[in-house]
Amino acid sequence: MVRGVVFDGERAEVVTDLDVRDPGPGEVLVAVAAAGLCHSDLSVIDGTIPFPSPVVLGHEGAGVVEAVGSGVTHVAPGDHVALSTIANCGACGECGRGRPTMCRGAIGWPGQPFSRGGAPVYQFAASSAFAERTLVKAVQAVKIPDDAR
Ligand SMILES: [Zn+2]
Ligand SMILES: [Zn+2]
Repeated sequence: MVRGVVFDGERAEVVTDLDVRDPGPGEVLVAVAAAGLCHSDLSVIDGTIPFPSPVVLGHEGAGVVEAVGSGVTHVAPGDHVALSTIANCGACGECGRGRPTMCRGAIGWPGQPFSRGGAPVYQFAASSAFAERTLVKAVQAVKIPDDAR
């Protein structure tokens, strides 16, 4: 179980009983080492950005790869990565034209890689950097130098 910031629709609180599922094909499990607080996180809390709850907030993160799912070859456990919130599919016309932000998969339906007591918990901005571990698509894990601070 890991620690994270969960917004339950009423208030945000630090919890210590989050579960994160193992990476499936094309996914990367990252131990978050640093995260920025952005106004978009606060906008979820004040309702400006409607988002289903409960949800783990945070979307500006970096950390160390803990595990990779099948088919992931560009990073390996121990690699340092920055997390992109753009979970583009890499296979559609927009992706092929180099416009990942136009990909319909870039934001998509929010996933639920987390759970608490067996109940699913949403992931904000395909990232949820306010958790000790989070699960992202391979394309979101951008390798950075080991000595990046
Ligand atoms: Zn932001
Ligand atoms: Zn695409």
